[in-house]
Amino acid sequence: MPKTPIASRPHDHSHCVHSALSEADALCARQGLRLTALRRRVLELVWQSHKPLGAYDILAVLSEQDGRRAAPPTVYRALDFLLENGLVHRISSLNSFVGCNHPGHVHQGQFLICRACHAAIELEQASISDAIIGSAKDVGFVVEGQTVEVVGLCSGCQGA
Ligand SMILES: [Zn+2]
Ligand SMILES: [Zn+2]
Ligand SMILES: [Zn+2]
Repeated sequence: MPKTPIASRPHDHSHCVHSALSEADALCARQGLRLTALRRRVLELVWQSHKPLGAYDILAVLSEQDGRRAAPPTVYRALDFLLENGLVHRISSLNSFVGCNHPGHVHQGQFLICRACHAAIELEQASISDAIIGSAKDVGFVVEGQTVEVVGLCSGCQGA
C-alpha cells in the first residue's frame, strides 16, 4: 500500500517549505543558476500550501506582505525560471502553479487535484508516462511533454 501523500494529511507544513527552499538553493548552486531574492520569494509563496497558486495571487501577496510593487512581467519571468528548472509545475486546469516535491531530475507531473480543497497531490509514476508515450507512439505521435491532471476528492475531503 502506498502511504498517504503528505499533501492530503495534517502535517507541519513549515518543514515542506523549508526543505523545498533548501533543495532549490542546492539545485541552483549545483547548476550555476541564480536564485534571486524575488525568484526565491515567489517559490516560497507557491509553497505556502499544497494548493496551486495563480500568478495574480502571488502578485497580491507580494504587494500586501512585502510592500513590493512587483510588475506582473517580473513575476511571470520568475515563474518561468522556476518552471524551466523544474522547481514548480503548472496546473493548466487551474491556471496556477504548485511546488514540485522532487525537483532535481526530469519528470512528468501527474496530479490528483481535489475539487473541494484544491490540494494538488503530485504522483511520480513512470508507468503512467510510459503508457502515454507508448499509446502516442502507436498513432505516430511524439510526446514532448505531459502534465496529467486528475480531478476528484482527497482523503481528507471525502465524507466531509
Ligand atoms: Zn506541506
Ligand atoms: Zn514534480
Ligand atoms: Zn481535499
